Amino acid sequence: MILSERNGDKGGVRCLLCPHSCVLAEGRKGICRVRESDGNTIRSLTYGIISGYSTDPIEKKPLYHFFPGKNILSVGSFGCNMRCDFCQNDEISQHGIQHNNYFIAPDNLVSRALAIPDNIGLAYTYNEPVIWFEYIMECSEAIKQEGLHNVMVTNGYVNKDPLMELLRYIDAFNIDLKSFDDSFYRSYTGSSLRPVLDTLVAVAEAGRHLEVTTLVIPKLNDTVEMMKREARWIAENLGQDTPLHISRYFPRYMREDPATPLETIIRLYETAAEHLRFVYTGNLPEGNKGSDTVCPSCNKILIKRSGYKIKNTGLTNEGRCSVCGEQIIRAENSVL
Ligand code: SF4
Repeated sequence: MILSERNGDKGGVRCLLCPHSCVLAEGRKGICRVRESDGNTIRSLTYGIISGYSTDPIEKKPLYHFFPGKNILSVGSFGCNMRCDFCQNDEISQHGIQHNNYFIAPDNLVSRALAIPDNIGLAYTYNEPVIWFEYIMECSEAIKQEGLHNVMVTNGYVNKDPLMELLRYIDAFNIDLKSFDDSFYRSYTGSSLRPVLDTLVAVAEAGRHLEVTTLVIPKLNDTVEMMKREARWIAENLGQDTPLHISRYFPRYMREDPATPLETIIRLYETAAEHLRFVYTGNLPEGNKGSDTVCPSCNKILIKRSGYKIKNTGLTNEGRCSVCGEQIIRAENSVL
């Protein structure tokens, strides 16, 4: 698809991939630092360049309602179209390309994914995958042809047309909703809230599997009032069954505030759980509230989690509660 256009008489080339709409003179890179103008078009500098490569439990993405207990080959590259001062992955996301000597062609990556036992497919993760668009389109189409699945872990800051292309092949998304406040997005991420909400709605409307993550940072996005508004919006616009992960922040990159207190995460978990049927906590010590999947109908614990390990304690092969029959996980995402 066309991802750039001439900027009329004003000169430069406009990138059409994300809402920043960078206009770039020849040789200049966009805000993401990994897409560059050659004077006529904008090209990806990270095509096939891998920063991280690992077979991860699907729970690590985090996705809790998509083939629980399975592994997925996870890859990432460099760069990001947001500028979060609290970035938890800044080594690969905020400093441009750190090395370009680890190249994997799409057919090679797909062969590797197929060779891993019990692997459900490919996850595009670690840095922001939207800005890796061309590579992901090729890999994800090939993965689907092999009958495997594609997962994207993203900030959701993408224009509608490229998102529609991605929706052809991506089966499951975890999308960050970093705050329910546009001024937070503008002050701390260098982006804005509306396009992220639009992406969430488009993914839900397309029927793709969707889970949402909110990283809670002390004093920035930790109020009960904001979580109430966020959870209500998710319930009304994405569906009450959308899993929400409320994750604990730790000081990283430019932000030195101490880690989020446990009681804050638990309070927000309880707030969200008044509106949504599946709320989870993340980055907490083992044994805390919000790690297990519990039937919202009869309260039976269905999946017990200890770190990234799971134990099925009551989910049927069709994704239902074994006690009351409530559908918890879509049957097609439950067993291979
Ligand atoms: S993808 Fe990169 S170059 Fe394109 S608009 Fe977004 S930040 Fe700018």
